[in-house]
Amino acid sequence: MLRRKIFGVFLLYAILIPSFSFAQTTAVGSRAVAPAKSVYTAPKADIDKIRDEGMNRSKVMEHLSYLTDVIGGRLTNSPSMKAANIWTRDTMAKWGMQNAKLESWGPFGRGWSLKSFSAQVVEPQTIAIIAYPKAWSPSTKGAVTGEVVFFDAKTDADFEKYKGKLAGKVVLNSALREIKMEDKPLGARLTDDQLKKMSDETSAAGAPRPPVTDEARARQREIQLFNLRRSNFLLSEGPAVVVDSSSRGSGGTLFVQGATVVQELPPATPDPAATPRPSFSAYKKEGEARMYPQMTMASEDYNRLIRMIRNGVTPRMSVNIQSQYHDDDLMGYNTVAEIPGTDPTLKEELVMLGGHLDSWHSSTGATDNAAGCAVAMEAARILIATGLKPRRTIRVALWSGEEQGLHGSRNYVTQQFGEMKGGGNQFGPPAPNAPKPQLIKGANYDKLSAYYNLDNGTGRIRGVYQQGNPGVKPYFEAWLAPFADLGAKTLTISNTGGTDHQSFDRIGLPGFQFIQDEIEYDTRTHHSNQDNYDRIQADDMKQAATIMAAFVYQTAMMDEKMPRKPMR
Ligand SMILES: [Zn+2]
Repeated sequence: MLRRKIFGVFLLYAILIPSFSFAQTTAVGSRAVAPAKSVYTAPKADIDKIRDEGMNRSKVMEHLSYLTDVIGGRLTNSPSMKAANIWTRDTMAKWGMQNAKLESWGPFGRGWSLKSFSAQVVEPQTIAIIAYPKAWSPSTKGAVTGEVVFFDAKTDADFEKYKGKLAGKVVLNSALREIKMEDKPLGARLTDDQLKKMSDETSAAGAPRPPVTDEARARQREIQLFNLRRSNFLLSEGPAVVVDSSSRGSGGTLFVQGATVVQELPPATPDPAATPRPSFSAYKKEGEARMYPQMTMASEDYNRLIRMIRNGVTPRMSVNIQSQYHDDDLMGYNTVAEIPGTDPTLKEELVMLGGHLDSWHSSTGATDNAAGCAVAMEAARILIATGLKPRRTIRVALWSGEEQGLHGSRNYVTQQFGEMKGGGNQFGPPAPNAPKPQLIKGANYDKLSAYYNLDNGTGRIRGVYQQGNPGVKPYFEAWLAPFADLGAKTLTISNTGGTDHQSFDRIGLPGFQFIQDEIEYDTRTHHSNQDNYDRIQADDMKQAATIMAAFVYQTAMMDEKMPRKPMR
């Protein structure tokens, strides 16, 4: 999932665009919708079959092992991402699923893979450290050995101190981060109190965010402009490699994502009539000249280097980052495969389920989000194994480009179902004086019943976020009932964000993310070097696949489509 990043984008827009306020991004609130007259539930024997297959003959950890252990980290458009596309397509085809294929979207941009990497302190003594290159980092000029310099510029005047002193050096670019005692467990399940609070929510939007004052906006803009001047200075000095401290995590866990691209400074007197200049991206060729080689280091190792320097020592490091860009195919690909519907009329309609195949690169993307892909595939396998005959067509979609902005699912939804034109949406700022957003329906807008997503890690399903849609409550209540003993019984009207169901939700299609136990998702695994198979809870995965299969099956069997919520 990409919750933090999206929120960061919100903040940026709120700061840079004075007319943008958070109030405009709040999602559709709950509105009265007539309750369904009768709610379809599958015969108990069908649910029992699904449960028996899912809980007693599960293959979900086999799918997960292949995706994580064999294919490994799956950065968007990397060779491993393509291998994951092909393996998931071929695996689902082997189970007898139809129309198993890769569907392109884009262009996204270039892929990146790591060819060779080493980093160690070589003077005054050899020190092994934990560090990972950032995704899309350029290569160093061979193995470089240089003095370690702490770039501690806090004002423009400080730049003078570093002028001409950073070229060819290993530059520490973050502040020392104090490591606090871990006084809470790293892994946790949702408590009854937390679940009750969720089910007591009365509005999808949650508490209104405090307005951003002009003063706060101006202050934030000043900080951003300073950081921009700082990174431009750093780039112009030609460091051998720039090192960040992990922003969180400790004890061997570090969090590492995409390389920083140094954006150009805005003109001193901005011309409001000028078209905004495009920003550079790490995965576009033009971005390459705007990046230095860069890596993220475990904070304990990083802090030691700063303390050594403060003690008058001048450490030297040897770093070798050899990476490769892949420019041969700039398109992104989603994997899709279907269990065809059997009802002469309803088979034209769709029920979808999925997760995202792409991941960050420093581990194997197990919780984020091989787990969701393995569960969605397993849900389909369960339905095939039971021999049940869904009336509607069931389509698994495994997305790519999620980590860079839900690109795979957004493009797919635009191609298949439609898009919101004009104005803004939850992913971007409203254009000044833009007309009200207008829904442009695609060919299949009226054919989709619902999309179910799983992308909050390995935790078992505890219920469903209704995404502000009161009409689905009676269905989901009835469908969760047989799984109450497995801990899944909570419905909340509230929205959740940061993952691919939003691509459906934003154009008014029923798209849902399940409520999942957190386990170690935020504390240890997602976007870290510890997002691996061993952090996955097998029993939770079986439960999730079983419940997902039951939800998808019943959505495919009911006479009507899943109720939709009224558009804003
Ligand atoms: Zn993620």
